[in-house]
Amino acid sequence: MSNVVFQNIVKQFPAAGGAPGGLAVQDLDLTIEEGSLVTLLGPSGCGKTTTLRMLAGFETPTSGRITIGGRDVTHLPVNARNVGMVFQSYALFPHMTVRQNVEYGAKLQNLSKAELNSRVDEMLETMALTPYADRAPSRLSGGQQQRVALARAVVTRPKVLLFDEPLSNLDAQLRERMRDELRAIQLRLGITSLYVTHDQSEAMAISDRVVVMRNGVVEQADTPMNVYARPGTAFVAEFMGKANILEGEVQEIGEATVRTRIAGASFELPRGPHPLRPGQRVRCVLRPEYLRIDPQGPLTATVKRVVFQGGHVEYLTEIGGQECTVTDAQYFHGGIAEQGRPLRLALDTRPVWMLADDQNTNALKAA
Ligand code: ATP
Repeated sequence: MSNVVFQNIVKQFPAAGGAPGGLAVQDLDLTIEEGSLVTLLGPSGCGKTTTLRMLAGFETPTSGRITIGGRDVTHLPVNARNVGMVFQSYALFPHMTVRQNVEYGAKLQNLSKAELNSRVDEMLETMALTPYADRAPSRLSGGQQQRVALARAVVTRPKVLLFDEPLSNLDAQLRERMRDELRAIQLRLGITSLYVTHDQSEAMAISDRVVVMRNGVVEQADTPMNVYARPGTAFVAEFMGKANILEGEVQEIGEATVRTRIAGASFELPRGPHPLRPGQRVRCVLRPEYLRIDPQGPLTATVKRVVFQGGHVEYLTEIGGQECTVTDAQYFHGGIAEQGRPLRLALDTRPVWMLADDQNTNALKAA
């Protein structure tokens, strides 16, 4: 077993001058199931890297307990944890060949020469690096160097793999390719993994679960689908992609739906898990793709700004005094609406998500 459990983890750094500093991580409870890939996602300074470094052994928690496969590793040194790491900077040894870099970690494991060679050969093959085995890392592309770093981490057969923004140094296209390769390799090898990124689309593409952090606290830990479509808070909704958070008023509560008035129009919205009462003000998460330009649509928006994106046009609009982004991928049929024009919109109500009502959000403050 190699599941990872963070129990009640707190990390407080001493501030300059010895006064107590801010809490980098607060009361973190998190399980990474064996063989799964969990991503820590959040804005700069939210505690992602500190969490990863505590699992690696580079930082010690102020309190709490970390276990790998049931074994308490909280106070074990880095090299006693059987954890592999892949960094943003690759951290390859420039004076060694690709092969020597990959061998490096495994050499410390006292393997027989035959076992060492066979493991390294297998790794080079898995990572499509066999033709480059005798090259220096400086003569490889960024993507190839990252594969060497991954091979070097995996060759030791670690129980857990840690990724610290491993794709940040790559350009956009290569980033996507490496992202998919990396996930395919992780799935094939079945290694329990913790991955840190601040890129929400990367997180959704590779993860079994996404942990959204904010100010050292887990805001939501869930499947990529749920953090996107069923956000627990407005912060999560907005962090996971473009979200319109429109205020509505509950009119009537049915068995599976809630009749809700939004910007002068009435909709049957799916009933979420939160308790509701008639007359209640609610905030509804409408992703831009749930809205569609339709001359018969019940909502009227005013176009404030038009952004051409090639595959679609993005309209920043106002609906009943609330900002709302609409995307139109069919603009080549109907043309592009101009700024200041009214736009009639229909809403696909099925994916609309109501937020629980006690959350303070940027969206509400701004409204
Ligand atoms: P980023 O995406 O910018 O890397 P992050 O989410 O990984 O951010 P952390 O690096 O974990 O954030 O930092 C969390 C908080 O802890 C920040 O407020 C940071 O300033 C603080 N912090 C991190 N390392 C130290 C340290 N060694 N000493 C003091 N404070 C620290």
